[in-house]
Amino acid sequence: MLFESMITAFAFALCASARAVPNPVEMFKRAHTPGTVINKCSKPGVLALAYDDGPYQYTSSLVDTLDKAGVKGTFFYTGTLYGCIYNQKAAVKKAYDSGHQIASHTWTHPHMGSMGAAQIRSEMEKVEQAFVNIFGRKPQYVRPPYLETGGQFLSVMREMNYTVITDDVDAGDWNNQSPQQSQQRFQQAGAGGNGHIPLMHETYQGTVTTLTNWLINWAKTNNLKIVTVAECLDDADGAYKPGTFPSNGQTTC
Ligand SMILES: [Zn+2]
Repeated sequence: MLFESMITAFAFALCASARAVPNPVEMFKRAHTPGTVINKCSKPGVLALAYDDGPYQYTSSLVDTLDKAGVKGTFFYTGTLYGCIYNQKAAVKKAYDSGHQIASHTWTHPHMGSMGAAQIRSEMEKVEQAFVNIFGRKPQYVRPPYLETGGQFLSVMREMNYTVITDDVDAGDWNNQSPQQSQQRFQQAGAGGNGHIPLMHETYQGTVTTLTNWLINWAKTNNLKIVTVAECLDDADGAYKPGTFPSNGQTTC
């Protein structure tokens, strides 16, 4: 704590404009290192609902459900997995505007562990540009498809300054687990210890409705605050890359 406040004081002592650009102090303050794999929250008392594979036809109603409950989720979006992200512009913008964290799940949802550095970079940059075109920000967080972090993936993420997320509870929705079976997995994992970052998919109706509502209640019962992945890592200001970026006007994939 003392160390943290010293850093804060030092950061404050720098001129205010220094905060507009990435500086070593801000980097040093981050709760984690780019290019290392994080699978759970850095503190207890929280739960970070994290949904992969959108945007999808349920995105808008999922945002409504989370908003109505007053909680924040994290969406790991792809560019093209279920149609072109630009066809879901309104839903993506709605999720961003509602204060949910929008993060990258790569452009085409490939096996990143077996790709070359240039391909990996391209997968990330296309998502960045789409996010810039839709809501004006670049993501700081990525969850790799299939949770694959091998090959050159992590070294490229380090170069690109990405925070890499996996999971510590697998809802199993992708593997035909029913919402009730997913619930058992959360009950087995328990509400103690550092908060969970579950693997869930917004492409399954049971996850979007039954499981999400159950988790909102489960969190309430166990005094867990449902927050974004960045917030659960004490990185609320680090969900997006600093700065503003030009739109290239693209609206098709
Ligand atoms: Zn996926």
